[in-house]
Amino acid sequence: MTKFFQAVWLFGALLAFQVCTAPGYYNSGPGESRPAAGFAHDRYGFPVGEKCRFFDGRSYYIGSYLPVLVRFNGTGCSGQEHRKVIFLEKQAYRHLRNMISAAKETGISLQVCSGYRSLEKQSALYRSLPNRAAPPGFSEHHLGTAVDFARVNWDNRRYLWLKQNAHYYGFILSFYRGHPLPGIPAEANHWRFVGVKEAGKYYRSYYRQY
Ligand SMILES: [Zn+2]
Repeated sequence: MTKFFQAVWLFGALLAFQVCTAPGYYNSGPGESRPAAGFAHDRYGFPVGEKCRFFDGRSYYIGSYLPVLVRFNGTGCSGQEHRKVIFLEKQAYRHLRNMISAAKETGISLQVCSGYRSLEKQSALYRSLPNRAAPPGFSEHHLGTAVDFARVNWDNRRYLWLKQNAHYYGFILSFYRGHPLPGIPAEANHWRFVGVKEAGKYYRSYYRQY
């Protein structure tokens, strides 16, 4: 490797480390978020360190980030009611559990149908739904903090409940209607844990577009 490429690699590594460990972003404790492992192409052909974009306009590649995960039972999406094992980042899961109980008290049943996805899983999903799923390495589901709920649509009670209450539990709607990111459809059932304080701020800014 020439000196030039070494310098580019180092710069990229430092940049990725800074972005990937930005405080409050991943909402995991110190040492839990990790920079991308290398800056060549990964085995899926995606350039590691290449940028991707999220709802907040920041952009980066998730690379080999691996959250601390807990496992629980969910269901299938799109009406399939089979039980399914789901993984979620531990803080996100703790808040999710409280949110699901609170919803239940008001007669709303929230069922999670997707949580953490590995690169392999996202890769398979992308192959089957290239127009709907993000490419591997570029999905919020890699963070372990994003969930998809079963049977949540823009106009149903589950959605309305989430719209009013999810931010109290630290969850936000990532892709609201009219969000600025190109190529990502608005999604009523995709919610992401960002911490209670951040979620409150976000909610106040974007509530009208929810
Ligand atoms: Zn999703």
